[in-house]
Amino acid sequence: MPIWLGMPATRARLLVMNAALGPLDYRVPEGMAVEHGSVVVAPLGPRQVTGIVWEDERLPTDPVPEGKLRPLLAVLDVPPISAQLRRLIEWTADYYVAPLAAVARMVIASGGALRGPATMTEYRLTGGAPERMTPQRTAAIEALEGEQATIRELAGIAGVSEGVLRGLVNHGVLEPVEVDVDRPYSRAAADFHLPDLSDDQREVSDRLVELVGARKFAPVLLDGVTGSGKTETYFEAIGAAIAADRQVLVMLPEIALTEAFLSRFEKRFGAGPVVWHSSLKSTERRRAWRAIASGEAQVVVGARSALFLPYANLGLIVVDEAHEISFKQDDGVRYNARDVAVMRARFEGMPVVLASATPALESLHMADTGIYEKLVLPSRFGGAQMPDIQLVDLTEEKPGSGAWIAPPLRRALFDRLEKGEQSLLFLNRRGYAPLTLCRHCGFRFQCPNCSAWLVEHRLSKRLACHHCGHETAPPEKCPDCGEPDCLVACGPGVERIADEVTEMLPEARVAVVTSDTLNSPEKAAEFVAMAEAKAIDVIVGTQLVTKGFHFPELTLVGVIDADLGLEGGDLRAAERTYQQVAQVAGRAGRGAKPGEVLIQTRHPEAAVIAALEAGDRDAFYEAETEARRYANAPPFGRWAAIIISSEDEKEAREAAHRLGDTRPILEDVQVLGPAPAPMALLRGRYRYRLLLNAKRSAELQQVIRDWLSRINHPPGVRIGVDIDPYSFV
Ligand code: ADP
Ligand code: ZN
Repeated sequence: MPIWLGMPATRARLLVMNAALGPLDYRVPEGMAVEHGSVVVAPLGPRQVTGIVWEDERLPTDPVPEGKLRPLLAVLDVPPISAQLRRLIEWTADYYVAPLAAVARMVIASGGALRGPATMTEYRLTGGAPERMTPQRTAAIEALEGEQATIRELAGIAGVSEGVLRGLVNHGVLEPVEVDVDRPYSRAAADFHLPDLSDDQREVSDRLVELVGARKFAPVLLDGVTGSGKTETYFEAIGAAIAADRQVLVMLPEIALTEAFLSRFEKRFGAGPVVWHSSLKSTERRRAWRAIASGEAQVVVGARSALFLPYANLGLIVVDEAHEISFKQDDGVRYNARDVAVMRARFEGMPVVLASATPALESLHMADTGIYEKLVLPSRFGGAQMPDIQLVDLTEEKPGSGAWIAPPLRRALFDRLEKGEQSLLFLNRRGYAPLTLCRHCGFRFQCPNCSAWLVEHRLSKRLACHHCGHETAPPEKCPDCGEPDCLVACGPGVERIADEVTEMLPEARVAVVTSDTLNSPEKAAEFVAMAEAKAIDVIVGTQLVTKGFHFPELTLVGVIDADLGLEGGDLRAAERTYQQVAQVAGRAGRGAKPGEVLIQTRHPEAAVIAALEAGDRDAFYEAETEARRYANAPPFGRWAAIIISSEDEKEAREAAHRLGDTRPILEDVQVLGPAPAPMALLRGRYRYRLLLNAKRSAELQQVIRDWLSRINHPPGVRIGVDIDPYSFV
């Protein structure tokens, strides 16, 4: 849409990609065509900035006199950002009290994509042989049969240095090929391989297909037990969107999940989806971005950052495992991708499907009050039964000293190994031990940058901070008292549980599965293949194994410490424990053989543990709902956190108290704090927190904006606002 019909625009207001700057006005040089949403380059002092042309009235600023306007430099060769997406950017910035530019930067998520068409050089074998063969060259030539990629990627594939390959290029064994960076993706076909759906599944998928056809906003909670075929069912809706030439976004919580998902997707649609996540190479990133913006990308599967991309004609959003907290971003713009997905669907008019076996209480409440449509898959596909769940009371059934697996779970593990079935032990703690101390002087290894212990990782021989990434090699002697060989590990991590299993069952093949061991899609695929080929007897894993995986031979799940999640004492501790344990329990008995789940706990009487044992989800949600109502917690009341930080302790404390002293006094917003954050030091910054609890009627964001804008802080102080917080550290 041109800004002035029939008359070329002469000035343009820009939202520039720099959160420190407000809106800026420019002159549109003669002959340059811009419209609202155009992505442009503008001069800023001696530099250049990227900006998006915005409606003047939605981005008020003091007008600049005509004579002072500088001309825009260029309009970039990408489709303009649509009005609906501009409204979503505004809504997100407003709701999460974030700078508009910071949100817009998530839309323009690939600098490379803005630079227009590009080629790159790849290499492939010519069939020739070098004059002189070396073992490395022979190996490389063998490994690269049929491959074409950049030198760096080929070096990775062949396991040789880039130098070896450059030598082969000089000998004419490898030849360069110029390829279009934005070469097209293979096309998915709606009906490539149609499944045979059960009656329940068919009913749900018919409704989803109908909603895709209606092209109207329709929020749906797809509530189905683990293994009920939620994925299979929403694939039908994806098929309908593909057939109608509309794009689909599927958001998944973890990169590790995508590999299993991708092969399933490919079987169903004959081609993989376009993948989007933070570790894409820059060429793949720009290729994906441009295909998304042009409409060529049919289905995009990605982490939460895929939500803000400029889809040309989105027709369906699916948020799978929608209860997962990894949809909440806790730095930069602190947004919840699940909630913003619903807003995007509303602005652009399409169905949005939140799929989960353990929905967030907020989502369930929306369904129960009729705001979301609820579609239910009540039973597992193919007659598989839900697993039998038993508690192991650790106050009675004590593991031996230095051990964490109690006798009933030991017996069950023996039994599975004997029968040749798989077991899964769940403990949400990476590494070997969460704390290392000196037996002689009591010294504890602590992170220099954070209020946290260093976690011992024996497999990779290091002590690591899980918050900032600080690492050191485990020393031979205590750094404090100098005593040699005096360090002891306290408490278990998954590596230590794996050791305990190996000691107990020396012949068992044990795999440790965490983000440390499954840190790439290739490793994830390798693990899935090994588990499916029955090359693993016992999987010991963190929350990474609680979602998505489907191993038919897995018949035993042991939860090492169900109480762990309850200790933090944050608002959602009970809900999170319920979700994690129910999800990991859902890995058991998904095939023909029935599953058994043993939950180790010191608090069998706790409501959430009792509900897990009874398999009574409704009872848990009812009790939790009442507790939330009583505490004026979501979905009834609202929370917001303000985090004040500085590298200087005093500066942070003083800023926090300045805010505390000027707190708004309101009937419907209660301000708690300031108090030192539980993580009082994080990545070298001292932190204080204020917590706001508001009635739903309160204008919470406006209250916060007014309050924060009244006070100036020294430049070293950072103020973060977290609306609907999930993390309270
Ligand atoms: P959920 O997403 O609810 O956990 P999935 O969609 O992963 O369930 O389905 C669980 C397993 O059952 C998968 O291996 C899936 O391929 C299989 N399955 C589900 N529905 C069907 C169907 N209609 N036909 C064949 N296999 C199915
Ligand atoms: Zn740290």
